[in-house]
Order: sequence, then C-alpha cells, then structure tokens
Amino acid sequence: MTEGRILVVGAGTMGRGIAGLCALSGYDTWVFDANPDAQRAVRAAIEASWSRAIDKGKLSTADAEAARHRLRMAERLRDAADVDFVIEAVPEALDLKRMVFSELDDLCPAATVFGSNTSSLPITRIAHATGRRDRVIGLHFFNPVAAMPLVEIVRGKDTSPQTEERALALVRSLGKEAVRVVDSPGFATSRLGVALGLEAMRMAEEGVAGPADIDRAMELGYGHRMGPLKTSDLVGLDVRLAIAEALAAELPSDRFQPPEILKTLVAEGLTGKKAGEGFFRWDGDKAVAEGARAAALARKR
Ligand code: NAD
Repeated sequence: MTEGRILVVGAGTMGRGIAGLCALSGYDTWVFDANPDAQRAVRAAIEASWSRAIDKGKLSTADAEAARHRLRMAERLRDAADVDFVIEAVPEALDLKRMVFSELDDLCPAATVFGSNTSSLPITRIAHATGRRDRVIGLHFFNPVAAMPLVEIVRGKDTSPQTEERALALVRSLGKEAVRVVDSPGFATSRLGVALGLEAMRMAEEGVAGPADIDRAMELGYGHRMGPLKTSDLVGLDVRLAIAEALAAELPSDRFQPPEILKTLVAEGLTGKKAGEGFFRWDGDKAVAEGARAAALARKR
C-alpha cells in the first residue's frame, strides 16, 4: 500500500523534523500541536531548516517550494484525521501517549496506521489504548531527524506483519534505514546507548581516565562518531538518568543502576549541553573542556 497522507502529532524538536522530512519526501503532511505557541511556530521553524539546507546546497529551492505546499497545519485534530499514517511525537509520558492514541482511534479511518516516536515506552501498552492494536507500531527517529539515517521499528505484541511492512516501506520512502526490534525495555538503541554511557560514567567516576580520553577511546579506537559521555551530555543527563532508572526497574540485572556521579550532576542542574555543563563544558553546540564539577566528583587514583 502506498501511503499518501501523514499526520504528525506533537511539533516539538522531533515532530518538526519528522513533518519536514515527510513533506520533502512527497507526502501530504498535516501537523498538529496542542500548544498554540508551538502550533504557530512550526511552519516557520520547518521552513527555516529548509533554508539552511538550501544554503548548504543540500536542497533545491524548487523541492522546498513543492514541500511547502504539501505541509499543512491543523488547528483541530479532527480536521487532519483522514490520513494513511499518524506519527506521534508528543512528550515521553505513557498516559499522555495513550490519551492521544485513544482520541486518534475515534477520529481516524480504520486502516490508518499509528506510529509512535517513543524512545523507551512500551508500544504494546500504548496500543492497548486503541481498538486497533494490530496497527500500532514504534517508529523511533533520531535527533536531528534530517541528518540521522536510522529509524528503529518496534513491533508490539499485537502489531501485524502488514503493519510492519507498511512501516518499513514508509521509512525507506523517507530515505532512512530501519532496524527492527520487538517491544522490550529500551529497544535496541536506548538500551545499548545507555549501557555504554553508564559504563563510561562509572569509569570517569573511578578515575580510570578523564571524560575527553574516555570519549576519544571510542571515537578513535572504535570509530564511534561521538564518544559516550559527549553523547550523554547532548541527549541530556536528566533524560539519560530517567531511562537508566526505567531500565533498572524493568531488566533483571543491576547494570542499569545509575552511578552516583550522574545522579549528583543531575541534582545540581548540570544536565549537559542544554545547561552548559555536564561531563563537558559546552559553548553552544561545542564541548570546549571537561566539566569542572564532574572532575571534582571523580575519585583520584
Ligand atoms: P518536545 O517537548 O520538543 O515536543 C513535544 C511537543 O508535543 C510539544 O510541542 C508539545 O506542545 C506537544 N504536545 C504535548 N501534548 C500534546 C498533545 N496532547 N497533542 C499534541 N501535541 C502535544 O519533545 P521531543 O523532544 O520532540 O520528543 C517527542 C518524542 O520523541 C518523545 O517521545 C521522545 O522520547 C522522542 N524522542 C526524542 C528525541 C530527542 O532527542 N529529543 C529523540 C528520539 C525520540
């Protein structure tokens, strides 16, 4: 089945990126956000990202202009519900996502597939809020959406093979690569990424090496584009702590127990890039030095 119309629900960091990509890829794309300020800002934000891509020679003016006509803002969810695919990108809270999906279930045609961009919540439980459990699936994009090639497709207990095929076709049509996982805590990416990040934090805490050397070990020795501590700072140490706590509660092992250094940095508001300091000190998008507080918390060897 060829999907033609997509509705993106929640137009924050991820929803904007996803909606922009859908419109550029030829889909009639509706965007809805419950917050009127976000709703008003979304078109300008998406078009500004296209202008930056044009300046860098990555997008033609004609393609951006065509996409502009395919992108529409919905003031009410019901006005935009007649679509083939919904991609939900509201904040990471199970009850909120279940509420949004339940409402969409009443409004959308029976054949519409519901995708959730959740990074860690159980797809099966989100699907249980609807009468179409077989047509709900995880579609986990990465930030920034335009640049990151991966989408993690998460199959819930009741997701049908047809839904998975439709999701796979959609991901490919957006120019992304898919990995497929079953619904389990942290999926593949969050579980592995957090495991590596937490071990790196324990090593920094034990004074095995400083954050810069730990990151360089993985960047130069293992070909990672960015080391685990910079990645953690970028995602947000508070976000990483929340995922670690959720994984520690759900997986039968203590390897996701958050280290003290992480809990202390978060408690002191040093949450990484967005706060200007975490394991590194940040100047805008750049990690410019090791974080003084993280260094003070590390045991001397
Ligand atoms: P965000 O806070 O930037 O955006 C969420 C948007 O949803 C906001 O604009 C908010 O007004 C809107 N919203 C809230 N309730 C709504 C409702 N009932 N109906 C419609 N809109 C509503 O969040 P984000 O960072 O874009 O994250 C969204 C989802 O994507 C989360 O599940 C998150 O875990 C996941 N995710 C985030 C990242 C990331 O790096 N930020 C990466 C991958 C996945």
